[in-house]
Amino acid sequence: MIRTYTTTWLIAASWALSQPLARATESVASTRQQADAWRAEHRTIDLHQHIDCSPEHLARAVKIMDAVGVGLAVNLSGGTVTRGPDGGPSEFERNKRMADTLYPGRFVQYMNLDYSAWDQPGFAEQAARQIEEGHRLGAAGFKEFKRLGLYLRDGAGRLLKVDDPKLDLMWRRCGELHMPVSIHVADPKAFWLPYDERNERWRELKDHKNWWFGDTNKFPPWKTLLESLNRVIARHPETTFVCVHFANNAEELDWVDASLSRYPNMRVDLAARIPEIGRHDPDQVRRLFLKYQDRILFGTDFQVDDRLILGSSGNEPPPTDADAEVFFAKEWRWLETRDRNWEHMTPIQGDWTISSIGLPAAVLRKVYFDNARKLLVAALPLPHLQARRLSRDLDLEGHFDDPLWQTAKPVRLEQSGLDGTVRPELSTTVRALWSPRDLYLSYECPFTRLTVFQPPLSSRKRFDLSRDGVSLWDRDVVEAFIGADAAKPRRYAEFEVAPTNERLDLMVVELPDKDFDWTSHFQSVVKVDTKSKVWRCELRIPLSALSETLPAVGTHWRLNLFRCDRANRAALAWSPPVSATFHVPEKFGVLEFVE
Ligand SMILES: [Zn+2]
Repeated sequence: MIRTYTTTWLIAASWALSQPLARATESVASTRQQADAWRAEHRTIDLHQHIDCSPEHLARAVKIMDAVGVGLAVNLSGGTVTRGPDGGPSEFERNKRMADTLYPGRFVQYMNLDYSAWDQPGFAEQAARQIEEGHRLGAAGFKEFKRLGLYLRDGAGRLLKVDDPKLDLMWRRCGELHMPVSIHVADPKAFWLPYDERNERWRELKDHKNWWFGDTNKFPPWKTLLESLNRVIARHPETTFVCVHFANNAEELDWVDASLSRYPNMRVDLAARIPEIGRHDPDQVRRLFLKYQDRILFGTDFQVDDRLILGSSGNEPPPTDADAEVFFAKEWRWLETRDRNWEHMTPIQGDWTISSIGLPAAVLRKVYFDNARKLLVAALPLPHLQARRLSRDLDLEGHFDDPLWQTAKPVRLEQSGLDGTVRPELSTTVRALWSPRDLYLSYECPFTRLTVFQPPLSSRKRFDLSRDGVSLWDRDVVEAFIGADAAKPRRYAEFEVAPTNERLDLMVVELPDKDFDWTSHFQSVVKVDTKSKVWRCELRIPLSALSETLPAVGTHWRLNLFRCDRANRAALAWSPPVSATFHVPEKFGVLEFVE
């Protein structure tokens, strides 16, 4: 259900983002229209789901994600990396393999810790080794459930402390391996208040006696738990902690504000707490979201096992798929509109109404996906670019007047190749088409000021490997790396075009060996629109230069796309290599030849 939209709209959107936030002129209707377009493209990332991996449960989750416009979900319940009996694959490996095989690109998995050796000497090192193993197996992050401080006990029956020093090595290893931590500590404040029908969370508590922690002989006080987590965050400044459920304290906005301000390595997700956050003064909440717009992440606590859970559950009849769509629609409504006093998405959490906070589009996209893409950059699924087949060859014109371009699904270069920082104001759109003879690529690049060599060289390729700053890639360019031979991942062709239409191609014969004498005889055309500040370029690359075997419908080649914009110090990548060099074949995405 990809909606079509005009090129003009895209450019207008990227420029709107460079304007001061929260302009009074931005209407709720236009924000919602923009958010609908993101959902149509499946750009939203849900950072907080729990999927009990089975083919049926994954299918149900994906069906609902498709319907509501969530492209990627983080499954926080990926399991432990402890090998199965007889050395068989771990729960984590089995879950990841199943999700990656059945629904590639739709889930990333967080790993969980196996505490069974807690009482044995050397547990600290053993826990750190679990993290290393998870990293090796492709865990995108680490999740700890609320069991620390409330459920897990040592051999002597004492509750494990959230800030137990035995876990320090493990927290540190997460940071060293760039694995973000999502951590749940404590629970709603009301779970520490008397267990009776006057408790505002009674509808939940009466069905879950084990969620009540008000017995001071058995459980630490609520605030003690939150403070112990803050000590862990303070001790590990190199580890990123996503404190779930709005920092586990949706009740106290000032506390969340103070904690975020104290710990730069702290983030929060929204999972299952909009009903609680939505009770506060919406203007105060909105200010907090604007202040921490780079550190708040969308997440729902959507759960699929034999039943669905939409934020919370009790003994009531299970929700349907249609209920799940309503649940997500209410999430959007709270973030995107300014509606007051309406019935929230998880009625079992309490009998009150909430008021929406109507975020501006530039902040919404951070909450919906930009912040998550940055957080997960090392583990993002490899992207796909579909090249649409042409029935005729195309005239290169550089301004996309040919309606055939609009039939191609766009991808975007928005992230720094180095560290995944998102640059929406430079969002560069790329489309691909193919004919029996050629591959066509188009780039659309918003700019502020062009940095180019003048005059352009046409007699030879501009490069000098012995000197810095004099080669074509040292100024503004768009680039494409294309590898046709799956058996030779370190062999691929490289193409570069500058806004002056100066161009260069070369063959990476076997990385790092490059053949600059190689030529594909590709053509390019560039149009610079100085009024709307967009430069566009189209490339026509003879397929026979890339491969002896011509592609057919269904062929997959390897591809990565880049753009350098010197004025904005941007080196954007389609699939960020997370490295100072673009030449990381493991991070190449997929070029798919489709009908
Ligand atoms: Zn959860």
